[in-house]
Amino acid sequence: MTRAFNFGAGPATLPLPVLEKARYELVEWGGARMSVMEMSHRGVHFRDIAQSAEQRLRRLLGIPDNYKVLFLQGGAQLQFAAVPLNLLRGKTRADYVDTGAWSSRAVSEAKRYCTANVVASSRDCGYTRIPPESSWRQDENAAYLHITPNETIGGVEFHRLPDVNGVPLVADMSSNILSRPVPVDRFALIYAGAQKNMGIAGLTVVIVREDLIGNALEITPAVLDYKLQADAGSMTNTAPTFAWYIAGLVFEWMEEGGGLQQMERTNAIKADLLYGCIDGSDFYHNPVDADCRSRMNVPFQLSAPELDDVFLRRAREAGFEGLKGHRSVGGMRASLYNAMPLEGVNALVEFMRDFERRHA
Ligand code: PMP
Repeated sequence: MTRAFNFGAGPATLPLPVLEKARYELVEWGGARMSVMEMSHRGVHFRDIAQSAEQRLRRLLGIPDNYKVLFLQGGAQLQFAAVPLNLLRGKTRADYVDTGAWSSRAVSEAKRYCTANVVASSRDCGYTRIPPESSWRQDENAAYLHITPNETIGGVEFHRLPDVNGVPLVADMSSNILSRPVPVDRFALIYAGAQKNMGIAGLTVVIVREDLIGNALEITPAVLDYKLQADAGSMTNTAPTFAWYIAGLVFEWMEEGGGLQQMERTNAIKADLLYGCIDGSDFYHNPVDADCRSRMNVPFQLSAPELDDVFLRRAREAGFEGLKGHRSVGGMRASLYNAMPLEGVNALVEFMRDFERRHA
């Protein structure tokens, strides 16, 4: 079998060595005489798998000891609710920066539990930039400020962290976690679904400063209560065991591949290559301001949208999958997560130049 270069936004491409190791261990993990899929989440074998994955993640991101790391079910969208339920701590207002489809979904969900105040929005310009920080109308009494450091659909990414004047900073890093080093101590809470840069769907990682938990709203379901989950080692309910195991393999692959500094270097090269191709032609176009373009998700349009279907068909024939843009914006999107090799981006750029020569 020849594997495609899969540019899908998530579930997304995985490192081949991870898939191969998972295949090797599929029927029996270690000396357990059973598969990871079959073992108790509370047994000794899974405990080793779970702890080793957490330790690797802590090393990769440099997570300080006063942060809890939770491995939960439910996807990032469940965190849109869990964040206000846990972090309001007696307050009634929270701030949100609206930079695209995902942050605005987070706002809608938070509104069920609190006054979610949009401090700034780039909706009017079609989410093609991050509103300048000087224009944010922040509330210094807000329970927290929520940002989406990478908007997976619009392809907009924060390349510097905002100044938050002491308000706890919360980030939905679903689509750029582990793509570069980040100073975890600047955040109150980071959450991310696993199916882009950490493995497969079914697992959501929450990294939260421990002094902020333990005051969830009365109505909070037990499985969404960070304190209960932290005290139970993320096992208030049955943990997403196989996805947790795969995340551990992905973290191992990253550590062996030089850690986040190396991921960042390669990701920058890949993104520069693709944006270079887009900007170097009149045939392709990316609408996002140059200083907030995403390194992870690169949306682009053809100058002749009637060629979209031909482009996608030819791309498939040439071995590329997952290039169709999100249904809300159309066009194309190439996701360049850690597991996408430079070779895949080189091949895509060559294909795009060739397609342009034939059709421009
Ligand atoms: N936030 C971001 C930034 C995302 O990209 C996604 C998924 N594409 C989500 C939240 C929602 O994740 P899920 O559907 O797994 O809950």
